[in-house]
Amino acid sequence: RKLWQSVPLAPPDSIFQLTAAYKEDKFPQKINLGVGAYRDDDNKPWISARRQRGLAALSNTKKKRATRILLSDETLDHEYLPITGLPEFTAAAAKLILGSSSPALAESRVASVQTISGTGANHLGALFLSKFYQWGTNEKKVYLSNPTWANHHAIFKNVGIGPVDYPYYDPKTIGLDFTGLVGALNAAPERSVFLLHGCAHNPTGVDPTPEQWAAIADAMLAKKHYAFVDCAYQGFASGDLDKDAWAVRFFVEKGVAMLVCQSFAKNAGLYGERVGALHIVSPDQETSAKVKSQLSVLSRSEISNPPTHGARIVSMILNNPNMFEAWKQDIRTMAGRIIDMRKELFRLLTEELHTPGNWDHIVNQIGMFSFTGITPAQSKALITDAHVYLTGNGRISMAGLNSKNVRYFAESLDAVVR
Ligand code: PMP
Repeated sequence: RKLWQSVPLAPPDSIFQLTAAYKEDKFPQKINLGVGAYRDDDNKPWISARRQRGLAALSNTKKKRATRILLSDETLDHEYLPITGLPEFTAAAAKLILGSSSPALAESRVASVQTISGTGANHLGALFLSKFYQWGTNEKKVYLSNPTWANHHAIFKNVGIGPVDYPYYDPKTIGLDFTGLVGALNAAPERSVFLLHGCAHNPTGVDPTPEQWAAIADAMLAKKHYAFVDCAYQGFASGDLDKDAWAVRFFVEKGVAMLVCQSFAKNAGLYGERVGALHIVSPDQETSAKVKSQLSVLSRSEISNPPTHGARIVSMILNNPNMFEAWKQDIRTMAGRIIDMRKELFRLLTEELHTPGNWDHIVNQIGMFSFTGITPAQSKALITDAHVYLTGNGRISMAGLNSKNVRYFAESLDAVVR
């Protein structure tokens, strides 16, 4: 009997499979609306786009400049980072998400650890909870929005925490099921763990309003729930880093027990560098030091120490005022282009094509993704009939649309819903 024969064949990751199918497709007008990676109006990734247009100021692109400085800096070595990461990076990253005037930072009660991007932050946070959280009767369960980023399920299951759905998206309104959400918060046993998306909810693009966030915070406090906040898109919702961190900062101010997972994949265009952080907010400095010591032990056993390059780039951008301003401009450009695509798609569907149905959600939803509200059969028809690639749940990455293909997409969408 050969070893591993009984291992079941796992299905391929649906998003990566979609990208592979798109790449193989020879149709000239094909569109990839699957993966959540930013593309410019020429469908190019952010940095290489600039390189190809030969913008003189390669050195003006903050990352290129940061990379060049790093590569030519002879004082930099290739030694290990501390287990919890590059201190200049984690400190600046904490300020970026929690705010420079955060009471929790002022009181030194945030334990920040560099992680393998947002995924690693989610994993380390989940692992820490699985070992140390003082569970109520709801032992080793996490409430996830229905729907959520599919990887959340796998990440928590991997560390022995069972996912439970809470209502979030209402297909009837193509918006937030606020009553269902608050009902779940009230019904869950005390000290339950709720995963919340800090901004730009993936996959729906539906975020609570500030008033709704306030009600969510109140319900969390009343039931002593724990907020596991995943924030992978800071800057992508509104184009403004501070605005998109509003809910996170509000929760800290209100004293909701919480942690935050942070990713620089999308907002800094550093997908492959795997640069992120986990920030756990504690009630006091002494507790925070204990938390950090245990995070360090966990990280040590998993990755020993995090990678240097991406953290050095982000650290340089965050700690250099000129680069920081240039980066904020980049974020405004990226978010602005996505918002423009929403408006143009909405205009084409409603004013030109008179596509049946209500499309208000296209402009009301936020961030990189939009839940179109179309059925799985219609999504499939878009792929087979129109060579437009999207996930079966009808989610489209707005970043895949541009001034050249938005009309073709609108016409294709119109055709499948008619
Ligand atoms: N959380 C959410 C909700 C996401 O959408 C993503 C990216 N798809 C991540 C976390 C993590 O991404 P990364 O590990 O590339 O930072």
